[in-house]
Amino acid sequence: MALSPERTVGEALIDIYRKVEAGQRLSAEDGLRLYQTPNLTGVAAMANLVRERLNGDTTYYVRNQHINYTNICNKFCKFCSFYAKKGGPDPYEMTLDEVRARLEWHRDVRITEVHMVGGINPRLPYSYYMDLVRLVKEVMPGAHVKAFTAVEIEQIASKGKVSITQALKDLMDAGLDCLPGGGIEILSDRVHRELFGRKLSGEEWKAVARAAASLGLPQYATMLYGHIETLEERVEHMVQLRELQDEVGNFLSFTPLSFHPENTDIPDVKPLTGDNDLRNIAVSRLMLDNFAHIKSFWIMNTPEVTQASLWYGADDCDGLVHEYEITYKEGDFGNKKQALTYENMCYIIREAGRVPVERDSLYNVVERSPEELAVTNRQPMTPLALVH
Ligand code: SF4
Repeated sequence: MALSPERTVGEALIDIYRKVEAGQRLSAEDGLRLYQTPNLTGVAAMANLVRERLNGDTTYYVRNQHINYTNICNKFCKFCSFYAKKGGPDPYEMTLDEVRARLEWHRDVRITEVHMVGGINPRLPYSYYMDLVRLVKEVMPGAHVKAFTAVEIEQIASKGKVSITQALKDLMDAGLDCLPGGGIEILSDRVHRELFGRKLSGEEWKAVARAAASLGLPQYATMLYGHIETLEERVEHMVQLRELQDEVGNFLSFTPLSFHPENTDIPDVKPLTGDNDLRNIAVSRLMLDNFAHIKSFWIMNTPEVTQASLWYGADDCDGLVHEYEITYKEGDFGNKKQALTYENMCYIIREAGRVPVERDSLYNVVERSPEELAVTNRQPMTPLALVH
């Protein structure tokens, strides 16, 4: 006989369970207890209750392609393995023709989302960013353009000598559909000072989010965890995001992103475990009561942990992800083609006992004809067990 949720959460968490059951908001103290309790199964049971209340068995994925247009960057964030530096990846800056070739390579797969982010490269002019967005719309007219973290938006505005709002307006005129989030990592002044002090502050990040909301530009939110932040700082990040969502209401989903120390300036940080990834998904599902979706990014979490996460609060696996270059591991440069086929993605979700549903960037359901489903990826796929 299955245990009731009350039995699963036990006496120590029963007060939090009562709040979750009643749909009440959890406090920062509750969030900290969810991180500290050894009863991860109990936390998962509560997160699953919320997940099924909001999304049932549905598990979303998107046909997406990533384009990281440059890895030249003047911010030197200590947690970053992506930007060009001695002993790391060689510097590059993609021309529009190179971007066009990447887009055309995947056109058969009927990509519905092109996700573009890059380093803060002072050589790129204002017009480059507008041209990038226009190019995606020209080559893939049906695809959403999800592009530029808040720190890139700040850079674009600075290059154009215009306000953040004007830069966003110009990008939207060119075809920008939504912002991917990112750019702040974690809303903590201490971590900001220690790891990424050259990037915008938490308040500046929020100003970009507010400007996007005022223009009706949908956006995503993330949290990078597992570096030097404390559990209290993770909870504080979620509380601040929750307050911002109360105010702007246009965050589509939240993605906890696990930190990978290899080839960063803080290589001695202990790598995260699957339990840690699952707990972050579960706690975020419970704390972010005004976010409709919690995403498990399989590239960082592995497909296996992502399968389990579908019972820990996640209802989204991100996407097929053609080419991803942000998390650099030595020897990876010959194999940037990190991707799952449509069949593999659906298999992973069904094997976990959930129902795969293709979505677009705005969580509209995408219906496919049998002919479209028959088209599979054109490049060798990442073997399921070898993603990390
Ligand atoms: S995280 Fe972004 S801004 Fe920071 S160094 Fe890396 S590419 Fe540059």
